[in-house]
Amino acid sequence: MKQLQMVDLKSQYQRIKPQIDSAIQGVIDSCQFVKGAEVKAFEQELAQYLSVKHAIACGNGTDALQVALMALGLKPGDEVITTDFTFIATVEVIALLGLTPVLVDVDEKTFNIDVEKVEKAITPRTKAIVPVHLFGQCANMEAIMKIAAKHNLYVVEDTAQALGAEYRFSDGTVHKAGTIGTIGCTSFFPSKNLGCYGDGGALFTNDDALAEQIRSLTNHGMKVRYHHDQIGVNSRLDTIQAAILRVKLPHLDEYNLARRTAAEKYNTVLSEISDIETPVTASFTTHIFHQYTLKVKNGRRDALKQYLDSEGIPSMIYYPIPLHQQKAFEPYIAGNQKFAVSEKLCGEVLSLPMHTELNDEQIERITGAVKAFFS
Ligand SMILES: *Cc1c(COP(=O)(O)O)cnc(C)c1O
Repeated sequence: MKQLQMVDLKSQYQRIKPQIDSAIQGVIDSCQFVKGAEVKAFEQELAQYLSVKHAIACGNGTDALQVALMALGLKPGDEVITTDFTFIATVEVIALLGLTPVLVDVDEKTFNIDVEKVEKAITPRTKAIVPVHLFGQCANMEAIMKIAAKHNLYVVEDTAQALGAEYRFSDGTVHKAGTIGTIGCTSFFPSKNLGCYGDGGALFTNDDALAEQIRSLTNHGMKVRYHHDQIGVNSRLDTIQAAILRVKLPHLDEYNLARRTAAEKYNTVLSEISDIETPVTASFTTHIFHQYTLKVKNGRRDALKQYLDSEGIPSMIYYPIPLHQQKAFEPYIAGNQKFAVSEKLCGEVLSLPMHTELNDEQIERITGAVKAFFS
């Protein structure tokens, strides 16, 4: 029997191998390894897919977040509100720029930032909110945009786990994740919903001036070659990665559907187990299951994980430690801050294998083992 994996990139590659191989060979033949035509073409195709005015490629998702905050002209001491339950990159760049991360607890059902606690965390120094669309579903953007408008704040969406997810506003309008706030940021890390074969990232905005600013910042702060108007960084998407992403982008909706279908099959079996809570999708968003994450109740998570390990079934804890308990962020946490939900979640969450190639036999093996543990 085939070894199960959290993410099966190899089988996905096999299905598109001729197109990928020829795309890579094309770049090698052109020798336009940096800033080749494929990069511009990919940016245009991605902007079109998202219905956003500008997509600007960069080196990775962490750089995208950093450049977004730089482009907004935030200054040391400015406060940026974000979630306590996310991958470290979201918060790292805030601190790296000398800004002050203000962590906020999350909603227990969706794992996304708790909008009521966002409003309570606002001070006169608050300049931006960075919601993360965690595990593949959108944070409550309508509420976040309302709070931002009321307090004159920027919104930078971290869409690294939700590229292609859709948010529905109460007036019925639908927008893709990453195109609602001031700037959206994503990652093309190989295991993301749209992954390249190395590092990659992008920023999105509908604001022409911000787009120009982002382009300049990712290119050493220049608009005219060797004229440096501001301090920038070197962050670009390799042409080879852009060529690969151009092959994969037309498959993104089908990939996301495959993940959702697998999630529904998991749900059918696992929702019957009383010690397990299957993922909840909020009414205002689609869920594209970057991760399929269970909550395992009654302190049984670690034992379940151990049992699955012994059965050759991989599972992962995203994330084991809330950010406010990370040593690196000690200086930013006030003693009286409470994070009851993220602390509880870190003890309950368990993510099962989730990718575009999961078949019924694999899902049955995985759900069968989970059922066996609880029986
Ligand atoms: C992956 C990820 C990032 C960082 O992307 P990289 O391309 O690895 O730098 C940022 N935020 C979240 C939520 C992520 O999952």
